[in-house]
Amino acid sequence: MPEQRILRVAVPAPLHHCFDYLPPADLSADQLVPGVRVRVPFGRGERCGVLLELVTAEESSGRRLKPAGAVLDTVPLFSAADLALLRWAAGYYQHPIGEVFANALPVRLRRGEPQVSVLQKSWTLTALGRQQDPARLGRARKQAEVLALLQESGGSMDQAQILQVCGNCRPALQSLRQKGWIGSDEQPPGELGRAHAPTPSRLNTDQQQAVDAVESECFGAYLLDGVTGSGKTEVYLALVERMLEAGRQTLVLVPEIGLTPQLIRRFERRLGTGLAVLHSGLAAGERERAWHLARLGHAAVVLGTRSALLTPLPRLGLIVVDEEHDLSFKQQDGFRYSARDLAVIRAQRTGCPVLLGSATPSLETLQNARTGRYRHLRLPRRAGDAKPARMDLLDIRSVRMEAGLSPVLMQKLRETLDKGNQALLFINRRGYAPIVTCHACGWVAQCRRCDARMTLHADSRLLWCHHCGSQRRQDTKCPECGDTDLRTLGQGTERVEEVLASCFPEAGIARIDRDTTRRKGSLDQLLNGIRKGKYSLLLGTQMLAKGHHFPDVTLVGILDVDQGLFGADFRAAERMAQLIIQVAGRAGRAEKPGRVLIQTRHPDHPMMQLLVRQGYAAFASEMLAEREAAVFPPFSYQALLRAEAPRESAPREFLEEACSLAETLARGRVELWGPVPAPMERRAGRFRAHLLLQSDQRADLQRLLTPWVRRLATLKSARRVRWSIDVDPQEMF
Ligand code: ADP
Ligand code: ZN
Ligand code: ZN
Repeated sequence: MPEQRILRVAVPAPLHHCFDYLPPADLSADQLVPGVRVRVPFGRGERCGVLLELVTAEESSGRRLKPAGAVLDTVPLFSAADLALLRWAAGYYQHPIGEVFANALPVRLRRGEPQVSVLQKSWTLTALGRQQDPARLGRARKQAEVLALLQESGGSMDQAQILQVCGNCRPALQSLRQKGWIGSDEQPPGELGRAHAPTPSRLNTDQQQAVDAVESECFGAYLLDGVTGSGKTEVYLALVERMLEAGRQTLVLVPEIGLTPQLIRRFERRLGTGLAVLHSGLAAGERERAWHLARLGHAAVVLGTRSALLTPLPRLGLIVVDEEHDLSFKQQDGFRYSARDLAVIRAQRTGCPVLLGSATPSLETLQNARTGRYRHLRLPRRAGDAKPARMDLLDIRSVRMEAGLSPVLMQKLRETLDKGNQALLFINRRGYAPIVTCHACGWVAQCRRCDARMTLHADSRLLWCHHCGSQRRQDTKCPECGDTDLRTLGQGTERVEEVLASCFPEAGIARIDRDTTRRKGSLDQLLNGIRKGKYSLLLGTQMLAKGHHFPDVTLVGILDVDQGLFGADFRAAERMAQLIIQVAGRAGRAEKPGRVLIQTRHPDHPMMQLLVRQGYAAFASEMLAEREAAVFPPFSYQALLRAEAPRESAPREFLEEACSLAETLARGRVELWGPVPAPMERRAGRFRAHLLLQSDQRADLQRLLTPWVRRLATLKSARRVRWSIDVDPQEMF
């Protein structure tokens, strides 16, 4: 048998193939195991790639191969199954393999740095340290703080915990050590399955049936279709406990906004130390440590956002995707994968169950449940005794509005506050006003780099483009005619807050949008204030619509949903309905049933009527019927080729060429729509256009994409544009 000694490496580069290298000179072949990182020469520099496989010299297409630099890991970071999954994903999403691996690695490892230690460092007071009085440390305040903390907590604590309480106190720890007052120790992490799981709460019949329906020993996809507050999280926890007993790991994915400290604490309380949390807010080192704990099988449960899906898990037994309809599971740039869809593939390849939970399942998932590909589990009632909120439409045609608030809604707000309850207002726009215009000549403030209007942010006195982020000082007079009578039209959260503050001066107002929550910890502060009753009016964007329960809210007002009915995107109505139901779900509990008022100029619109009268399931069936008639997803499969360039004609030229290439390759099995300008043609100074591909067979689309995308890179017109391919696109912008 010919010796396999050529290294096939996934190198981060915008190219679809792997690169072959000779083994490093000083290494024996058995030290080369697929899944380790290798440093390789690339172009004029060096890159850090992942060894995928070893091949024979005949199998290698490369001539005059260069030797690889160094092997960076002694044991593989990825198992054979992990490598296969990521290679599959690179193929399916038509994304360069090296970049797919870069997405799967924590950032320091991606850069080729050594692994962080998974040992847990702890600090203990010495006998001398126990006798010290922190007050006598004088100006060394950090040292005093740490010393006091250790004395109060019985003399010993994990470094991570100390850092959490005292901030960065590493120098203080070192000084205390030099004084001989404290000493450190490093322990390996606890074993999987040793985590403590206190008595689970009693499940109701629906919950128990859902738990019992999930077969843990084989692949199966399950839709857990449960209204907000029906106890889906309890079902997840019960299944996690079953996995713990079996010594298997559970991966729980939640939306970006859903990974709240409350949720983490809820899992921690039930699982003790076996939890690893992975999200973008963590420091690189912490995140990498959690990743290793997962990869080594020490973490029983991995709770994370989208990219956690790509974590190696040697004993994976269950995947949960909470709020599976949420858009944040789809990465919108670079490697455009759907963590939800990939979760199903991963479960299938692993041979374990995957549970998709939502109060408003996506039409894709509902259709899979209808055809029997997924099992449909239902939790139709709220847990405990909480009643569902009552929904009504408020006709605002020919009604005098005050900053988007109708008199009826104002009256209901007043009544709610008078009873000592909380009210929540949802408005899907931040800033003060979306339009600034000159009353004399009709000029409108536009972004100079986008086909978009500037939003006025009164807090910062800036005009702000929400599409490219450019900002400029608010004009004092019209740049066209010089008139000073500039006015705003429409409203965002800032303006609604202003009006509420003047109408209800005695009420505490919590505004929750991206501007008020930019600082770390500020969202938690606001949410804590709401829970403690410091605020009685809550106002915000979709950040309010997700994840949080506000049990004292009895009135929900939804200010503006009409654009969803007539949006350019065929998914606009689906998203609007999901948003309405999710916002409505924030309100009410047993003693305090909730009321939801939806302001609309189209109160007779049949889809609105259906949603409000019969609920999401009825709405979704109707939408599915429409999609089927129009042969839109989920009844067909799409891919979107996007191109953009500073020169207006360049994207079109590239897409025309791409289109004729696709025509010859597809032989009529894939429809080609376009090229057309993107809904917002100019953005951040670039002209944008796209070409949509659609087929009623996923396989036909894939058969076209693989050769086509590789050929695109060789087109001359491709060099004049930035282009990307999006398989199963969720948004058409
Ligand atoms: P969901 O995830 O579906 O929104 P949660 O699991 O967060 O719902 O449950 C909503 C509320 O109901 C929580 O306060 C939870 O503690 C409570 N709850 C869940 N299951 C039960 C049950 N079987 N009996 C009583 N209360 C429950
Ligand atoms: Zn003017
Ligand atoms: Zn702009």
